[in-house]
Amino acid sequence: MKLQAVPSSFRRWGAVVCLLAVATAVSWVLEPHVSLTSQAMIYVLAVAIASYKLTWVESAVCAVGAVTALNFFFVPPRWTFEVENREHFIALASMLVVALVISRLASGLRRETEVARLNEHRARQLQTLAAELSALTSPQEVLMLGRAVLETAFTGPCALALANPAGELEQAEVLELAVRDGMRCCMKEGAVLGPGTGRWPGLEAWYLPLGEKGQIFGAACVRPAPANDEGGREHARALCALVAQTLWRLRLASSMQAAQSEAERQQLQSTFLAAISHDLRTPLAAIVAAATSLQTQRERLDAAGQARLLQSIVNEANYLSTMSDNTLQLVRLASPGQVLQRSWESMEEIVGAVLGRVRQHDPSHRICSRVPEGLPLVRADAVLLAQLLTNLLDNALKYSEGEVALSVNAVPGKLELCVKDRGPGIPEAEREAIFQPYVRGDRAGRHGTGLGLAVCRAIAHAHGGRLLLRSREDGGSCFCLQLPVEPQPTTPELP
Ligand code: ADP
Repeated sequence: MKLQAVPSSFRRWGAVVCLLAVATAVSWVLEPHVSLTSQAMIYVLAVAIASYKLTWVESAVCAVGAVTALNFFFVPPRWTFEVENREHFIALASMLVVALVISRLASGLRRETEVARLNEHRARQLQTLAAELSALTSPQEVLMLGRAVLETAFTGPCALALANPAGELEQAEVLELAVRDGMRCCMKEGAVLGPGTGRWPGLEAWYLPLGEKGQIFGAACVRPAPANDEGGREHARALCALVAQTLWRLRLASSMQAAQSEAERQQLQSTFLAAISHDLRTPLAAIVAAATSLQTQRERLDAAGQARLLQSIVNEANYLSTMSDNTLQLVRLASPGQVLQRSWESMEEIVGAVLGRVRQHDPSHRICSRVPEGLPLVRADAVLLAQLLTNLLDNALKYSEGEVALSVNAVPGKLELCVKDRGPGIPEAEREAIFQPYVRGDRAGRHGTGLGLAVCRAIAHAHGGRLLLRSREDGGSCFCLQLPVEPQPTTPELP
């Protein structure tokens, strides 16, 4: 906010003339009924009104004009500037002093009121900015908000830019050359530059570093920057300090998060190594034993015995394949900077392909699917979604005896894929834990690594979706994948 808008110079002087003219006219009209003292009071009232609305110089000129007009129009001898009577001379001099004092006091009061109002407005602006900054999560949002607030406070144009940890301005090319140089210098000096600061007073804006020397997150350019506006400069400094604090908080949070995910990744890798070295041995030993029996004792085994051994090799090899797929996927998804190979995919086709594969291991055809036509496309990595669905179906077949229902539904803004079975269900206490890597339920059989659901949840999260476990009233489990549906492509790429 700027100090209260003052009328243009012409209008202000016009107001002085009008006030004097009105005071003269009123005194003239009332002359038959009032004394000279009352007429003087009417002029003093005009000076008081001028002092409240106009500057000190204008109200002082009004005071002098009031005394002169009273003398000219009403003090004998009238229509001259002369004063014959000493008493009249003293009255006019006193009136001049009183009028000047009133104008001085009134304009001082007005100025103080404006400063108090401005300070209150600035304090409120700082409070609001602090509250709004606390909800932001990215440096870009902080810059945008900071710039908007600076432009409201100073009318602008203002600019804010981030610096990388090496102290280089980011996206410097979008800034004017002069602004870029000013920002670089203020970051280098770690101090405010510009008019009234004693540093680079020739600049046409204030340049403020965001942060303290040694820990500077960027810089701000604030315009206009009058050299005598110390209050404005302090306010700009306070606003920039709030922005810098938020940038510091965000940088701290992101480095903490990076350290945490690195620790989690390392822990996952060591758990993975420990688990894989244990889990690989059992199926491999079973495969070697079955294959050796087939090789050495084929003649002595009947057809059923041979088929049993072959089936055991197929089962163990499938198990190994699923386990290594899941393990590799989990490690890949946990790696920092992992980018998905997303494209527009039809859920109908992914489900069709997965069902084709899973039904080969489901001779009793227990899976019944319901996928309506015309579902929206999803932007997804088809291989990962297929793996997620395979894991859910494998589990449903593994842990239940009856029918397994697979359904896909479009709900507002989402696509929901559910796999339901009538197995034993999952006890309340295990419901969250089973999504952790290498965690298996109490009632789980021998085959399994505890990785399937962890991979499913990681895949769902990587797509911006969720994997939920819902209980079923009549027993069994229901795993639901919810994927966000983005605005559909106008000319869809063929999946
Ligand atoms: P795994 O099946 O290899 O043990 P998962 O991560 O796929 O590992 O599953 C974790 C645990 O969740 C399983 O050990 C099992 O106890 C439980 N579980 C998963 N799916 C089902 C299901 N459909 N019905 C009952 N229990 C299930």
